[in-house]
Order: sequence, then C-alpha cells, then structure tokens
Amino acid sequence: MTGITQRIQEIRQQLPSYVRLIAVSKKVSVPELREAYEAGVRDFGENRLAEALPKQEQLRDLPDITWHFIGHLQSNKGKKALEHFQWIHSVDNLKLAVRLNRLAGELYCQPQVCLQVKMLPDPNKYGWSVPDLVECLPELNQCRGLKIKGLMTILPLGLSPNETLAAFETTRHLAEKIRGQNWSHIEMEQLSMGMSGDYLLAVKAGATAIRLGTKIFRDRTP
Ligand SMILES: *Cc1c(COP(=O)(O)O)cnc(C)c1O
Repeated sequence: MTGITQRIQEIRQQLPSYVRLIAVSKKVSVPELREAYEAGVRDFGENRLAEALPKQEQLRDLPDITWHFIGHLQSNKGKKALEHFQWIHSVDNLKLAVRLNRLAGELYCQPQVCLQVKMLPDPNKYGWSVPDLVECLPELNQCRGLKIKGLMTILPLGLSPNETLAAFETTRHLAEKIRGQNWSHIEMEQLSMGMSGDYLLAVKAGATAIRLGTKIFRDRTP
C-alpha cells in the first residue's frame, strides 16, 4: 500500500460518512492524483486554472471525478472555471457572483457554489466579511443560475485549538442564521471548512466538506 492510500484510509476512519473529503491536488503530480483516485477519492480541489486544466486533460479517462475550484477567481476567468469545475468554493465578492450567474445562463450550466466568508479579519485572504455578506444576500438570492449551497471559510494562521473550534462554530451559526431567513435561492446545507491542520476541529463544528492537501499527499516520514 502506498503512503497516499494509507493516509487516505486513516483520514476516512476519522470522518463521519456525510463529510466529503476533497483532495487538494495543487502542486501534486498526475500519478499521485491517480493514486488518490485508486484509494477511492472522487473529489479533487485545485486553486489555479493554469495548473488544473492540463491535469484534468490527462485524467479524462476518469470521468467520475468531481472538480472543486478553491482559489481566488478573477472575474475574467469565470467562463473557464465553469467549463471545468462542478463546484466553486471561493465565490468571494458580489461582482464575481453576478458574473458567474450570467455565464452560467450562457453556458447552460448550474454551478454549485459556496460563499467564501472571513470569520476573523485577515488582510491576506479573500472573502466577504460577515456584515458584507449579510448585506449582499438579497442580490445573491437573485443569482438564480447559481446553486448557492453554503459557506466556505479559511481561518487565519496561528489560532489556538479553542479559537479555531469557536471560529468554525461561528461559521455554522452564520449558515444556520442565513438558512433561517428562508431565501428562495440560497441553500445553506454545506460548510466547506477544515484543512490539514484543523480539519478535525472543523468536523467537530459541523463541516460537510474538508479540503486536505498536505495531509494526503505529503509524506512527512523521512
Ligand atoms: C491549499 C489549500 C487547501 C489545503 O491545504 P493543506 O493545509 O495542504 O491541507 C485547502 N483549501 C484551500 C483554499 C487551499 O488553497
């Protein structure tokens, strides 16, 4: 058994069955990606189109992969993203949402998206602040070509475990609050949160999708 296979099996044993394991394959080679696929992973996340598209091309014999775009998306790359990804986790501003909505209509696709929110101020990250997101909800609800499924968050570095858990729980509470407002075209069932360093806390707080790169692909044993 390869390291990748073994690590995937160990991670799976830690996860409730409803949690979607997204293998973040940025900077990972196609053979390694295939190993993860052989180990049962069907969800892969990439953060750059220029890197993802050639890899997808080489993996066309595996049509049951679901591709998740998880990086900051410039509006002018929206079309390419919609053509090559079923999910976009990183919808982080209204202009992008409106643009994707229009493109989805033109391309006859219905992308599944998450709204990326910053639970704590972090100048180095993209994403809505909580008040900005709440203010944009009426306009987002008009984006009927998008399937708005939930929230995505990335926490700032350097939080303690308690702070991390609290921030993930606050994210869940925000999703519940938005769900309680009964928007006609905004679902809030999905919580995309948790990376290699904090996914167990994210799952504890109610994550439905975790995004793991290092934990799956990088062997730390010498
Ligand atoms: C790289 C990346 C991940 C995975 O990070 P690891 O710490 O390697 O697990 C998850 N989410 C996003 C948005 C990323 O860019």
